[in-house]
Amino acid sequence: MNATLLDLIFPNRCLHCNRIIPGTEVVCGNCYSQIHFTHFQFQENNRLKEQCKLLFPVENAFALMHFEKEGLTQKILHQLKYASREKIGKIIASWIIQNIEFGDEKPDLLVTIPLHPKKMKKRGYNQLHLFTETLSKHYGIPFDHEVLQRTHYHKAQANRSRKERLISEKKFTLQKDISNKHILMIDDVFTTGNTMSDAAWEILKNPGNKISVLVMAVD
Ligand SMILES: [Zn+2]
Repeated sequence: MNATLLDLIFPNRCLHCNRIIPGTEVVCGNCYSQIHFTHFQFQENNRLKEQCKLLFPVENAFALMHFEKEGLTQKILHQLKYASREKIGKIIASWIIQNIEFGDEKPDLLVTIPLHPKKMKKRGYNQLHLFTETLSKHYGIPFDHEVLQRTHYHKAQANRSRKERLISEKKFTLQKDISNKHILMIDDVFTTGNTMSDAAWEILKNPGNKISVLVMAVD
């Protein structure tokens, strides 16, 4: 069956109000206007930057949307992550592009937070990849999805020394020898910031690296 016929039988619908919308959209115009955007400025101080600063040294931080339980942002991110709708990442990237101009603060590299391999296998994709690749293309900043790797956990924690346990509790390991780079760390939702912090400190181990943060939503 070709795409046009499929579109007739199963038209794309607004995930909030169910109205029929173009295939390139995720919500209709009316629901888009109800999305709780942050209106943060990348170069200026904002609540996310303040939160990051408590955890690790940060240059700039940006979140596109506010995350509210049962809210529209959660609905959109849920579709992106759990409903095999990877293309929503491209749509969210287009919203970012309308809101950020890096100017003099342009990062050197886009780095995504990796999924645990088990999750990746189950989901079939990392919800940050298409999003990040879309930003990379628009801004002319290279991306690398393999800078960080999730640490594998071992079961026999009880048999280990305290030092060994501390080492194994590290969430990420740095896979590439990157130094003197301004890295833009990318994730979907910033909640406690623990994940972002672990990733940032791993990158900051190498000399001359700087971190900025970009997330789709902040809790
Ligand atoms: Zn709608």
